[in-house]
Amino acid sequence: MADKTFKLEVVAPDRTFYEGDVTMVELTTTEGDVGIYAEHIPMTMIVAPGVLTITEPSGKKKASLISGFMEIKQDKVTILAETVEWPDEIDLDRAKEAYKRAKSRLDGHKDGVNIARAEAALKRALTRQEAAGR
Ligand code: ATP
Repeated sequence: MADKTFKLEVVAPDRTFYEGDVTMVELTTTEGDVGIYAEHIPMTMIVAPGVLTITEPSGKKKASLISGFMEIKQDKVTILAETVEWPDEIDLDRAKEAYKRAKSRLDGHKDGVNIARAEAALKRALTRQEAAGR
C-alpha cells in the first residue's frame, strides 16, 4: 500500500506547480493535518496554511502551501493552490518581518487589532519559515 503511487497535480494561478507520481501527500486542511495515500476515498478539502510534503518513490519535496482546495478522485489528487511556494522561492527575511508584525499586533492588546487576521498572518509566516527550513 505505502509504495503504490497516484497522480498528484498542484496547480497555481500562474503555473503548474507540481505534476508527478507520488506515494503520499501531506498537508494542512481546515479539518486538520492529513496524509493522502493511493486509493483514498474521493472527497474535497479546503487547504489551510501549512507545509506541503510530497513523497515520491525517490524522496520528499517540501513547499509552503497557504490556501486553496484539494480534490481527491479515484486515480488523481489535484490541489488548486491560491498561494504556494518552493523553499528557494521563499524570502525568509520577508517572512520574519511578517512574523514580527503579526506577533507585535497580537502581543500589543491594542484596540482595533483584528486578532483573527494577525493570527492568520502569523501562521503564514511560520509556515514559510518552516518550509524554507532555514
Ligand atoms: P506579507 O505580509 O509579507 O505580504 P502575506 O502572508 O500577507 O505576507 P500572502 O498574502 O500570503 O502574503 O501572499 C501574497 C503574495 O506574496 C503571494 O504571491 C505569495 O507567494 C507572496 N509571498 C508572501 N510572502 C512571501 C515570502 N516570504 N517569500 C516569497 N513570496 C512571498
